[in-house]
Amino acid sequence: MDPAAADLDAGDLLGGYRDRFVGAESPLVYFDGNSLGRPLRVTGPRLTAFVEQEWGGRLIRGWDEAWLELPRVIGDDLASACLGAGPGTVTVGDSTTVLLYKLIRAAVAARPGRTEIVLDRDQFPTDRYVAAGVADECGLTLRWIDVDTTAGVTPDQVAAVVGPQTALVLVNHVAYRSAWLADVPAITRIAHDAGALVLWDLCHSAGVVPVLLEEWEVDLAVGCTYKYLNGGPGSPAFLYVAGRLQDELTQPIQGWMGAAEPFLMGPSYEPAQGIRRFLSGTPAIVGMLALQDMLALVADAGIDAVRAKSVALTSYAVDVADELLTPLGVELASPRDPELRGGHVTLNHPLMREVTAALWQRDVIPDYRDPHGLRIGLSPLSTSFAEVRSGLESVRDVLVGMTPSDR
Ligand SMILES: *Cc1c(COP(=O)(O)O)cnc(C)c1O
Repeated sequence: MDPAAADLDAGDLLGGYRDRFVGAESPLVYFDGNSLGRPLRVTGPRLTAFVEQEWGGRLIRGWDEAWLELPRVIGDDLASACLGAGPGTVTVGDSTTVLLYKLIRAAVAARPGRTEIVLDRDQFPTDRYVAAGVADECGLTLRWIDVDTTAGVTPDQVAAVVGPQTALVLVNHVAYRSAWLADVPAITRIAHDAGALVLWDLCHSAGVVPVLLEEWEVDLAVGCTYKYLNGGPGSPAFLYVAGRLQDELTQPIQGWMGAAEPFLMGPSYEPAQGIRRFLSGTPAIVGMLALQDMLALVADAGIDAVRAKSVALTSYAVDVADELLTPLGVELASPRDPELRGGHVTLNHPLMREVTAALWQRDVIPDYRDPHGLRIGLSPLSTSFAEVRSGLESVRDVLVGMTPSDR
């Protein structure tokens, strides 16, 4: 084993958490915890117990006894563990895509007469597609910001396009391609100075980069829970609405679970007070259980310690890439300054699509993102420094095998 990696692992205060994840004992290298986090070992028995005791034993009584409150209970845990928000501001349900639709529609409806949604061209596709759909539906214009795909959107770029016509500014906190970390307080202030609302997509920051929604005066946020929050494939997303806006905003999917009195089953929709009005239908209870286990772990480790390890992991990955891969023509496609970088590192090379396929065959699992980026996602609680070293050595070996004439 590489001595530097061994030293870093030996000094890692969070190193003990890795064994709590399924698969930690295997030599497989997992560089995709930012796309689908590993499951925790406690989750298997927890799910079995849920089926046998809660679902199987309590049956429909479970709704009154616990499940109806679960979106709020988990929302509060999420708010305090990693979002810097108080109780009653976060809830869980639907997918990020659906929550984006709800909040974009709610926001533009709250700014009547304003005609534009500001966003950048390198946002995650679903964000751009949903915004385009809402723009068509509501007769609005999308105001696009062009960004460098190895970096991301800056406050100056936002300041240059917002104005009295702006209803909403939509921003990804961490760029899914480059890991660029956008300046939330500065961009939020710029949007507010123009009288616009701002919606932050936290999919690639929730659980890895500390977020201070209240201190930063964010209006609205969404994020998914199957990435750094290890909720499992398709686990429900979360949304945040600042307390000051909750009674002013109404969302378009008016379902009974967001109604003031769901069990009154009245003739017309009356929204609930508070965060519950942003729910629509029956919450996906089974899908939330693994997330609950991971939130307990993040709270135990502390989000600032998680971020410190994340910075150490990505910085180490950059150092190892400089040493092993730069000589082979690989280029860093993420910010070099850790202050400007989220939890992953992207490495560009014209052959990365083929390299990724070859790595998967060898049980080294990164992601590939066009145009030719190998994306190394480093989930802090389940990834060791030795894993980073060994995975990047495999990238080198595969690349050397594919480019013999270059050497
Ligand atoms: C992963 C991700 C999504 C995913 O949306 P789903 O509705 O869960 O498929 C959305 N936005 C961003 C920025 C993402 O990284």
